[in-house]
Amino acid sequence: MKKLHFIFLIRDSEVSDRRGEFEYVQDMSSFFEYWIREAFGVRFEVLCDMMVSGRRSILQRPDIHTLVEDHRERGTDVYHFYLTYFRPLWTDCTCDGYHAENFGMVWWQRPAGGPDAPSVPFMAEKNCTAVSHVLAHEILRQKGYSRYVPAVHDIWTRHHYSDLRFVGYGRDHKREDRSPAFLVMDAADLV
Ligand SMILES: [Zn+2]
Repeated sequence: MKKLHFIFLIRDSEVSDRRGEFEYVQDMSSFFEYWIREAFGVRFEVLCDMMVSGRRSILQRPDIHTLVEDHRERGTDVYHFYLTYFRPLWTDCTCDGYHAENFGMVWWQRPAGGPDAPSVPFMAEKNCTAVSHVLAHEILRQKGYSRYVPAVHDIWTRHHYSDLRFVGYGRDHKREDRSPAFLVMDAADLV
């Protein structure tokens, strides 16, 4: 089975501060395994890890280039998806993300709420939606869909500038609109 590997990239000084976020990232990863199957009919084995950058790490000043290198070293047959503390410097995406073949990244925005109780509504709205955007590009591309960029951007624009709402799910992966743990793009018109 194809593998999708989420990598939460943080600074070495922040490891203990971000444990609550990493717990959310782990839950979000298994949610996306469900969502990709449900929305696109594609099965992935999903993995999730934390990667630490800093003075004592190989990744001293990571950017897209070093992440692409990391992806190559880990193996390009795995879809690596980086959740980073910096924005992509260049991208054709309308979210703060970047996509290439079997490679994705989004800028993971830090929520308020502290290490033990980071704001789930914030992470669902800012981060989870951007992950669904970048995932949608790559999965549509893998399915041979030629409009894998504009089709996603059309829907994204409708989410932000029209009345189309993001789709909410609970921790149990059931639809949940009142207090969703996860929010994603509406994939109904994509496939
Ligand atoms: Zn995009």
